[in-house]
Amino acid sequence: MTISGWGRFPKIKASIFSPHNESKCRDYLKEVEECIAQGLGRSYGDSALNSNVLCSRRLNLILDFNDKEGIISCESGVSLAELIETFLPRGWFLKVTPGTRFVTVGGAIASDVHGKNHHKDGSFSESVISFRLMLPDGEIILCSRSQNQELFYATCGGMGLTGIILSATIQLEKVQSAYIKQTTIRAANLNEIFDLFEEHKTTKYSVAWIDCLARAKDRGRSLLMLGEHDVDEDFSFSSSKKLSIPFDFPSITLNRYTVELFNRLYYNKAKNSVTENKSSLLSFFYPLDAIGNWNKIYGSRGFIQYQFVLPRESSLEGLQKILTKVSTSGMASFLAVLKLFGKENNNLISFPLEGYTLALDMKIQPGIWELLNHLDKIVLDYNGRLYLAKDARMKADTFQRGYPKWEQFRQLRDKLGLSEKINSLQSKRIGL
Ligand SMILES: Cc1cc2nc3c(=O)[nH]c(=O)nc-3n(C[C@H](O)[C@H](O)[C@H](O)COP(=O)(O)OP(=O)(O)OC[C@H]3O[C@@H](n4cnc5c(N)ncnc54)[C@H](O)[C@@H]3O)c2cc1C
Repeated sequence: MTISGWGRFPKIKASIFSPHNESKCRDYLKEVEECIAQGLGRSYGDSALNSNVLCSRRLNLILDFNDKEGIISCESGVSLAELIETFLPRGWFLKVTPGTRFVTVGGAIASDVHGKNHHKDGSFSESVISFRLMLPDGEIILCSRSQNQELFYATCGGMGLTGIILSATIQLEKVQSAYIKQTTIRAANLNEIFDLFEEHKTTKYSVAWIDCLARAKDRGRSLLMLGEHDVDEDFSFSSSKKLSIPFDFPSITLNRYTVELFNRLYYNKAKNSVTENKSSLLSFFYPLDAIGNWNKIYGSRGFIQYQFVLPRESSLEGLQKILTKVSTSGMASFLAVLKLFGKENNNLISFPLEGYTLALDMKIQPGIWELLNHLDKIVLDYNGRLYLAKDARMKADTFQRGYPKWEQFRQLRDKLGLSEKINSLQSKRIGL
């Protein structure tokens, strides 16, 4: 069958195997020449693509739950959506969650995903107590910060390249509501949004939508969304989808003019400079989950989500340059999200470092590769890096300059026989 990541680029022919227990995993690893693990396929590019894919979704058991401590053990194919449905009514939520809940626990560990609270709570691996990992020879290793430490730090953020995560034990966070107290603040330009992020850095959640087509004095105009957990003991929530995109939009639908119009309307939607409201946890964290197959709006050729991070001290200048380049190209879409990251962790190839991260969606169109190569240069000039979970095209050199511990990671892979057996399209492209 033909498969792709969420960005629908690249598309390849692959055979998919979905084992329902560990011994089937072991047999599969012995049988195939090489393979890569896959969860719910929400990474955008080619990190979960290989001609042989081991899909974790049937490893979907919740194994144990300690209601007093909020510690859960489950198989790696359990999704964050399933954890929320089961544990939010009991007052437990994820410590860190990405912008979609349709990802698996294995995928969240492998990408070491971040949320709107990285500046306060770090990334997903900070909530991981331990996990069990199957190596190519079928051996199962328990990894934690005190046991098999190096494999722990390599696997968190290691994009599935250290073996198959079978199950994990995770710390949840106690909450007193299924609602978020949200404040939205308008910022007229990039300087203003940076000041606002800094001013509100003690707020638990923060994220900004940026109008990346705005120019001159409006460059970087944005809406900052801040959130704190409500405490009203209301745990009611509904997770039904409202809308689904049934077919590929014609490529012409998203162009400079439609996106500019959308951006103007969206920015002006926040009528006051500060707006407060109560938002359900699902709509605050996962607005896009309400639209099924939203990736089809970019047309059948697919799209790239370009996400980079720049260190704090060079963020403002670097972002000015990048936004100038993007706005004059006219290629960016309406989904442009800016977040503040806190400290880097010990994982070998995790994405976050202290600074600002911007994610931009761009449909695949003539001129896009030249534009992205140009942006790569700016990112590297400012000592930044690109996010592997979103990537489908970066060159080996761009990866290696952005991730200084990449060689240690590769040596570990060689030592454990992983480089022969566990590979993705991405790992081959970037020299891992
Ligand atoms: C709408 C949307 C919003 C998003 N928002 C964010 C965000 O805010 N922050 C963020 O960090 N990310 C975000 N992402 C990206 C997403 O969280 C990650 O790509 C995540 O890894 C996807 O998990 P998955 O289960 O779909 O894994 P897949 O996409 O299937 O795989 C991703 C990687 O995990 C590996 N993997 C999966 N399962 C296993 C396993 N059992 N053992 C070993 N390796 C495994 C794969 O080999 C691959 O390298 C978003 C994605 C979408 C579509």
